[in-house]
Amino acid sequence: MDVLREAAQVRAATRQWRASGARIAFVPTMGYLHEGHLALVRRARQLAEHTVVSIFVNPTQFGPGEDFERYPRDEARDLALLEREGVDVVYLPDAGSSYPAGYETWVVLERLPGHLCGLSRPGHFRGVATVCTKLFHAVEPDVAVFGEKDYQQLAIIRRMVRDLDFPIDIVGHPIVREPDGLAMSSRNAYLSADERKRATALYAALCEARDAVAQGAVDAAQLCRAMADRIAASGGRVDYASIVDPDTLDDLQHIDRPARALVAAWYGTTRLIDNIALQPPNI
Ligand code: AMP
Repeated sequence: MDVLREAAQVRAATRQWRASGARIAFVPTMGYLHEGHLALVRRARQLAEHTVVSIFVNPTQFGPGEDFERYPRDEARDLALLEREGVDVVYLPDAGSSYPAGYETWVVLERLPGHLCGLSRPGHFRGVATVCTKLFHAVEPDVAVFGEKDYQQLAIIRRMVRDLDFPIDIVGHPIVREPDGLAMSSRNAYLSADERKRATALYAALCEARDAVAQGAVDAAQLCRAMADRIAASGGRVDYASIVDPDTLDDLQHIDRPARALVAAWYGTTRLIDNIALQPPNI
């Protein structure tokens, strides 16, 4: 496994593979890897002959007062895990050379960031779309794997790749959960034992909405209230509990087609997100 820090080195490696007819799969991450990340890596390895993983805590997707400084990092452990998974290249960009003095170019989507996490994290998806563009140019993958855990991010990357003609297949991977249902996240490391227990309410609330819709419930506002109440009762401070169109992310009032329920809430100083597919009966 090669550990590379320069975009040009990564590009040279992937161009050599492509010249010999091989496909390249890519998994971008912020590191502090868990089984959710590793599931994406395993999927990537099934999709192409060569796999590149990036680890970069991208400063431009964190707002002022967010957790950029304290975001958990463990490069040595991450590299050992990726080596074991058979990854070919790990790309570790450096914030200084990614955003040198005078940097002023951003990738901004017009509409999709105006929902859900984009409302409480202004600028977040500008940072995400920009860093993914830069990573895609470094790696030049045939396929990139993203988790449904960050559902809005996945929708934004799909849209961006289509709009800007990146020749990359974007593959979504289902959410990997702890045995009690909590979605795996590097940020779970912030939770106290008590918060960790309470945070299972996120998935419980989503499952209740999913089951109600499967049994014929159609009133989105009522289901959103029930999800928010469930999370608040567990001690979570709700950021949003929403039911949206799975592609446009527009709020739905009436659930008469497949939809997505998404929640975000604070437990102590930790903001967690989760989501689930909603499928009305007989559709
Ligand atoms: P992050 O390191 O949090 O930026 O995540 C890197 C990639 O892993 C993103 O595509 C995430 O959606 C994905 N991911 C993170 N946690 C999970 C999870 N529990 N299940 C599936 N994918 C995940």
